[in-house]
Amino acid sequence: MKLVVVGTGYVGLVSGVCFAEFGFETICVDKDKNRLNILNKSKAPFFEPGLEDLLFKHLNTTKLLRLSNDLETSLINADVIFITVGTPSRRLEKEADLSAVFEVAREISTNIKNYCLIVTKSTVPVGTTRKIKEIISEKVDQNKFDVVSNPEFLREGSAINDFMRPDRIVIGTENKKSEDIMKEVYRPLFLLETPIISTTIESSEIIKYASNSFLATKIAFINEVADLCEKVGGDIQEVAKAMGIDKRIGSKFLNAGPGFGGSCFPKDVKAFSATAEKLGVNLSIINAANTSNELRPKKISKKIIKRFNNNISGKNIGMLGLSFKPNTDDIRDSTSIKIAKELINNGAYIKCYDPQAMENSKRELPEIICCKTVNDVTKDIDALIIATEWNDFRALNISNIIKVMKQPVIFDLRNIYNKSEMLDLGIEYYGIGK
Ligand code: NAD
Repeated sequence: MKLVVVGTGYVGLVSGVCFAEFGFETICVDKDKNRLNILNKSKAPFFEPGLEDLLFKHLNTTKLLRLSNDLETSLINADVIFITVGTPSRRLEKEADLSAVFEVAREISTNIKNYCLIVTKSTVPVGTTRKIKEIISEKVDQNKFDVVSNPEFLREGSAINDFMRPDRIVIGTENKKSEDIMKEVYRPLFLLETPIISTTIESSEIIKYASNSFLATKIAFINEVADLCEKVGGDIQEVAKAMGIDKRIGSKFLNAGPGFGGSCFPKDVKAFSATAEKLGVNLSIINAANTSNELRPKKISKKIIKRFNNNISGKNIGMLGLSFKPNTDDIRDSTSIKIAKELINNGAYIKCYDPQAMENSKRELPEIICCKTVNDVTKDIDALIIATEWNDFRALNISNIIKVMKQPVIFDLRNIYNKSEMLDLGIEYYGIGK
């Protein structure tokens, strides 16, 4: 089989190299020539552990992977075409911006020669895959193609492993023929006994948004319980641990912190709710989770500013971690960036360090002072914020760090340090929910 993946972002590129690893001839197409130039040197345009090794292997050794910016030629003899372009929030609106998805659908419609499957792997609102079918049907006979929904569940930072060993694969199809082709594509995972959920296109599209919205709601929920713990002297980590042991609840996504961010949860929660609203359904729980989360970075910033008698102007604040989570350089909707912006707007100077996200952060927030090491950050600061839980920050020599700070004030937004140990060191320590 010959596979074509359109879009070489986190999902497209990871899918492309993993399909090549499965043994398929795969072409990754992108319209961004700069990105393709980087990729052609076997370099990944973003940080993702393990990605460059697979890229190098399949571009240079197996030669199963090719890169192109010419969709027309790439589609010749394609059996399965995956659409993996971005679906960000529309500016000033909650809905998903589907313009890139529909643009690709139109391009595909003018270039199909033989029967093929067109698969939506981008996260799209229910009804989108049918709309893609309508667009393609305007130019192509209906017996020359089928559409499929196959949402992707990989997480940045562990994307290769997530793709190669997913919890489940979801395939939304309209007929047996397309279901069988998709099962053939994922046969290597089927052999590992990965559950394959074969369902309708509508259910498949909803599964993706419902899953992300549920996880986001879990985070928003535990963050509000953390606020209550702070008021009464409870400890959210003990509360969450005891809750999580209950198998009906589960321990994942119960870590209180600065709120959910990243390229998926914030936009997906909004888009899910906007789609339902258009259809006359009020997803009030998801709306509440979204509102709660949107307020959170401001709330945390206020807490930090309050420590300085509500005047942080002229203070030097250190920040460790800028990416929205560890092991990625992605800062889309990062809560660290939101908090840094808020503090800068209130007159603070932000000195920061992140193992991978410095370049992206400087572009987004030129006012930050970029440092090369943790030690450079901590010198002469009035407070240190641990904002993203990179492993690099989990075992810091705190005793040495406080010696070079102006005063030993630490805001640990990820609860990675032990409060009583910090207090014993004479640190004014603020965790979340304790
Ligand atoms: P991204 O923004 O990193 O990459 C999108 C790529 O598509 C870019 O390289 C862009 O140049 C390319 N592109 C846009 N229009 C194109 C066109 N007409 N032709 C060819 N290429 C085009 O996006 P991403 O983070 O990989 O996300 C893609 C989709 O997958 C989104 O719907 C997202 O919600 C979903 N998703 C993302 C993740 C994640 O962790 N990033 C996980 C699961 C699902």
